[in-house]
Amino acid sequence: MIADWVAKFADEVIAEADRRAPGKPVVCASGLSPSGPIHLGNLREVMTPHLVADEIRRRGRECVHLLSWDDYDRFRRVPAGVDPAWEAHVGKPLTAVPAPPGSEHANWAEHFKAPLTAALAELGIEITPISQTERYTAGAYREPILRAMEHRGKIDAILDQYRTKTVERYFPYKPYCALCERDLTTVTAYDDESTELAYTCACGFGESVRLAEHDRGKLVWKVDWPMRWAHEGVVFEPSGVDHHSPGSAWIVGGRIVGEVFGGEQPIGPMYAFVGITGMAKMSSSKGGVPTPADALEIMEAPVLRWLYARRKPEQSFKIAFDQEIQRLYDEWDALGRKIVTGGGMPAEKAAHARATSTAAGALPATPHPVTYRTLASIADITTGDPQQTLRILGDVDGVAALGEVRPRLDRAQRWVETQVPAELRTHVRDEPDAELLSGLGDEAAESIRLLLAGLDEHWSVEGLSTLVYGVPKLVAGLPVDAKPTPELKQAQRSFFALLYRLLIGRDTGPRLPTLLLAVGAERVRRLVSA
Ligand SMILES: [Zn+2]
Repeated sequence: MIADWVAKFADEVIAEADRRAPGKPVVCASGLSPSGPIHLGNLREVMTPHLVADEIRRRGRECVHLLSWDDYDRFRRVPAGVDPAWEAHVGKPLTAVPAPPGSEHANWAEHFKAPLTAALAELGIEITPISQTERYTAGAYREPILRAMEHRGKIDAILDQYRTKTVERYFPYKPYCALCERDLTTVTAYDDESTELAYTCACGFGESVRLAEHDRGKLVWKVDWPMRWAHEGVVFEPSGVDHHSPGSAWIVGGRIVGEVFGGEQPIGPMYAFVGITGMAKMSSSKGGVPTPADALEIMEAPVLRWLYARRKPEQSFKIAFDQEIQRLYDEWDALGRKIVTGGGMPAEKAAHARATSTAAGALPATPHPVTYRTLASIADITTGDPQQTLRILGDVDGVAALGEVRPRLDRAQRWVETQVPAELRTHVRDEPDAELLSGLGDEAAESIRLLLAGLDEHWSVEGLSTLVYGVPKLVAGLPVDAKPTPELKQAQRSFFALLYRLLIGRDTGPRLPTLLLAVGAERVRRLVSA
């Protein structure tokens, strides 16, 4: 058995499920509000129980992962960039608000659910979605709603311990207005015997309904959440730091679930923040919030899974949209090589296994994983031209068809297109830098002569690496295998800078062997020959 934080939670959850509901499928849960884009931080809400549920399934136990869409919550505010006319919908359920202008989706909630649902499928995350609109309007929670109203005094007393001001009359149920659909309603009377409930709305409407037959309203959030723990029998559900302060939903919910609904609070680790590095421009048109779909454009699903699997929920981490992604991929490839040869610490192996597969099988992988760094350099230099890309990849790593390096190639290309700032993009010179070439000293000219003489013989990543490091040694009269000295390192730096200037008009750039392969031998000769 693999020992990591996921396995530890799975042990606990199985033991707890056996105690609470023996013989039944284990229930893990996530909850998301489709009020706006679901960002990468929210993905932890789904990924954490997914990993635990997946481990439980790997052990042959039946496990349900509920994704509760809080789409019956109210539309709170019109986000910047949306037609101010949407102001009229504030207070309606998210499923009763029209989708943002131009959307193909039926309503506001569906518009924001759809991209996450697609990303979860790509990530191999198997969930059972629940629409709270569907549940509430179908009367699925009628019994617990009546129970919450019956015990409103008890709920009020629990909440009161954290309140700073007194509430005159407390009702845990809020109707949506039958006339204007908004929740600007106030419950004015409730009769426990008949369940007759009277409310008025800010729009002027008012009516009396029988709550036992009324399916157009919902429990307030701090009561709704524990109600669902009990109703669904949830054994594992994590939540964000913001839910854990005194008086917060998790804290009061822990009391309400037992004292009102006769259930138990799930095992619920608190998960920390997920940050982003980079991500300059790409999503600003979509509100500046990087989503799982944005991340999956630039990295493969197993790599994104790995970022979440390798850190305990309470550890925060960052997802790289900037140059750091290249180092991240190097680390990922190094881990893969280590594991293939039987190495790796147990927790590393566990995280790698959870990243690359689920109980249902392996996730799609790139058959020939040329380094992301190399693919990005090639994408940069060729601006994505498929023929040039294939020629270079053939030279670099014997790639015979682009299918071998997909989907990683597509991710690297997308990253270069959307995340690499213009000033860092590489533009190979069209014409030689005649001025620079005519002013070269003897040593520089000799370096270039040696480079060109060795080019064909060394036409591979390793060969060219040996060649570009070796040329300054030969010029200095040293053997090619000479140990580096400070003087030699300085000579190598100068030589590299000269080549960058001649090839791309800058002092730095992609790794030289990759750059030379990408430019092609013929064009290299043309650009560096005096
Ligand atoms: Zn109204």
